[in-house]
Amino acid sequence: MNYLSGHLHTFCMRPIEKIYDLLGQPRKVVIVMHQKPDADAMGSSLGLFHFLKKLGHTPTVISPTNWAEWLKWMPGCSGVIDYEYSTAAANAVLDQADWVFCLDFNNMGRTRYMANKLRKLTCERILIDHHQQPETESFAYGVSDTEKSSTCEMVYDFIVGSGNADKIDIDIAACLYAGVMTDTGSFRFPGASAAVHRMVADLKDTGLNHTKIHENLFDNFLENRLRFIGYVLQNKMDIFYEYNAALISIPWKDLQRFEIKTGDTEGLVNYPLSIQGIKMAALIIDRDEEVKCSFRSKGDFDVNTFARKYFEGGGHYNAAGGRSSDTLEQTVQRFISAIKENSSQLQ
Ligand code: 5GP
Ligand code: MN
Repeated sequence: MNYLSGHLHTFCMRPIEKIYDLLGQPRKVVIVMHQKPDADAMGSSLGLFHFLKKLGHTPTVISPTNWAEWLKWMPGCSGVIDYEYSTAAANAVLDQADWVFCLDFNNMGRTRYMANKLRKLTCERILIDHHQQPETESFAYGVSDTEKSSTCEMVYDFIVGSGNADKIDIDIAACLYAGVMTDTGSFRFPGASAAVHRMVADLKDTGLNHTKIHENLFDNFLENRLRFIGYVLQNKMDIFYEYNAALISIPWKDLQRFEIKTGDTEGLVNYPLSIQGIKMAALIIDRDEEVKCSFRSKGDFDVNTFARKYFEGGGHYNAAGGRSSDTLEQTVQRFISAIKENSSQLQ
């Protein structure tokens, strides 16, 4: 981002602190997150939902698409509206909203079929997000901080910053813990700062059972997913030692064969990073409707820039995603050309 656009962005989106004084007045609020929400997107949205409800607002959480089975234990999850499935009902709620909070995404395109509707809304949109290069011109208020571990940490900061730390109960704690834990790779990534650990200590003080949350998220799959991972690691993983890179590519027919559902491929992209010397891993999946890409890196290889440049995507420095409208084979070829072009940064 150059100086000028950075300056303009700051000018357009007012700091989220400006709404602290407005929180006392009850409002109809919609909370939206990115499509195929992960634990950070769903956890931050539901954490904010419970908090706003306690303050006397009328919040509704809308997800652009469906979500993984392993998120359904989250308090409040059964009340979330699936935009793709219940478009008319969701649009009716959006039309009534005074505020729309946009959580854990940096541009409207991340809400897929919801993007047009969100862009047309005349009410105030408020951003809480930690991805790089956010579309800040679309928001009346907000906070965008790429240093933050997770959007859940930012919702915690919002609650505490607005003078409402005492409102954090065990339901809010469970939602926020799930997102901060998963987005920090169980507290191993650099984003797991001292502040994150202090936040977790506060969440624990509500009586939070963190062991149960780890079980809900990591020990709650069906046999087919583990068989699928075994198959994929054996047959669909290529290691490019020359470029310190690895690729897992999965055809649509394999997703069908193993009855793979939303969320079942989460985490798969991390496996190749456990190989000595591998600095960057990619996962390219033919989801039929589109080819979806995930990128992860260790150290100083910037996958946000990589995803932006070659795969219409973005995200964070060490974790990003993108897509392609080419075939799986063509996308794989594009990936191989891209790592060749980046070979000096991958050394
Ligand atoms: P994942 O690989 O888990 O889908 O995504 C990794 C990170 O990159 C997440 O923080 C996610 O929000 C972001 N991300 C994934 N896909 C896209 C995309 O298509 N565009 C942008 N801008 N970010 C993405
Ligand atoms: Mn996140």
